[in-house]
Amino acid sequence: MKQTQVVSLIITEKCNLACKYCYVVEENVGYHNQKNIVMTDEVIHRAIPFIIYNIAPTCENLRIDLYGGESMLEFDKIKFFVERFEPFAKTEGVWDKTQILIFTNGTTATEEIMLWMKPYFPKVDFSFSVDGTENSQNSTRVYKDGSGSYSKVIENFELFKKIFDLPENESIHSRSVHTLSPDNIQYLMDTILDYKIQGISSYHTFLCKDDIWSPKDIEEYRKQRKLSTDFLIKEFPETGMMDKYMVLLMQRQRYKQKGECSSGKTLISITQNGDLYPCHRLYQGSRAAKFKIGDIWKGIDKTSTYLGTLEKLGIDTIKECINCKYGIRDSCNFQCTSARFESATTKGNIFKVIPSICELLYIDHQSAAALNKALSGNLNFEILFM
Ligand code: SF4
Ligand code: SF4
Repeated sequence: MKQTQVVSLIITEKCNLACKYCYVVEENVGYHNQKNIVMTDEVIHRAIPFIIYNIAPTCENLRIDLYGGESMLEFDKIKFFVERFEPFAKTEGVWDKTQILIFTNGTTATEEIMLWMKPYFPKVDFSFSVDGTENSQNSTRVYKDGSGSYSKVIENFELFKKIFDLPENESIHSRSVHTLSPDNIQYLMDTILDYKIQGISSYHTFLCKDDIWSPKDIEEYRKQRKLSTDFLIKEFPETGMMDKYMVLLMQRQRYKQKGECSSGKTLISITQNGDLYPCHRLYQGSRAAKFKIGDIWKGIDKTSTYLGTLEKLGIDTIKECINCKYGIRDSCNFQCTSARFESATTKGNIFKVIPSICELLYIDHQSAAALNKALSGNLNFEILFM
């Protein structure tokens, strides 16, 4: 039985932002081409028993991610799903092991939405995507007219804290994922210094693994990761300040855990029309026919092409990984299947890796190794791995 299974429901592709690294793209059309498609009530209605009877019995913990675009632009659909899922899941004994996360860019939640959500919290929670402090966030997460979204995110989070009775000093940066991309990487160290001033001890960076990094961007990444790693080594013993992404990588090194792309393994996605895909990134454009693995009416098609290739898609089977030139395959965080499919370098061949992403993964690996080495004698160090 799997420890955790994630089911993502792609409620809509609509979005009010135009983030520079957005993956809601159509090949040959470009970024920010989100369509106005919305999941129908009929699909939501049918997805609930599918999740409860087909997915929940295969795992100890069930996580349901409500995705967009910006999922909350279709708040009525979220409400419709949660209000029907809860009683059904309670009757079938699935509710206790379920966590529902509403993925949001932080700009759209209104008082009405938060008040509705309060009785379900924290069983139903937000997962915020916020790229660090003001300069960083406003470099990547912008509105369609190019203006930054930071002030709106902070305004909404203040309301969130009030309605959910969170401590006054709680920061959105401890509850969000900060995607590092070429457009904001130069702000990483400044952002971390700002976190220190704000008293934030735990934050979560995430490497954008799409093939969009130039050699110059990679050099900037190397510089910023080195600066931030040296800073964490100095700060951790005193303040406990740490990056959750680094903790994951440190764990991989400690216990020799290889990373993997969870698509089709511990992740399954339901599209707006009820089709099943291995991941919320693998269903658009020409990906549709190639990666479809069933639908909510007939269930998972175990004979589908993608599921048939899954075993050949890992670090132990991809040729470049077997001969990894960086010598890190025992604990590499690995690459994204969708990014490899879209990459101009791999030309749609998902059995190849993107060389520029390998370079970034190696930089991350070196940072984690430095943290492991410098901190392993520290009394608080073991707490990281609990
Ligand atoms: S660095 Fe690249 S080649 Fe090496 S194991 Fe990781 S993904 Fe594979
Ligand atoms: S395809 Fe990419 S986004 Fe999807 S599960 Fe794999 S790594 Fe994650």
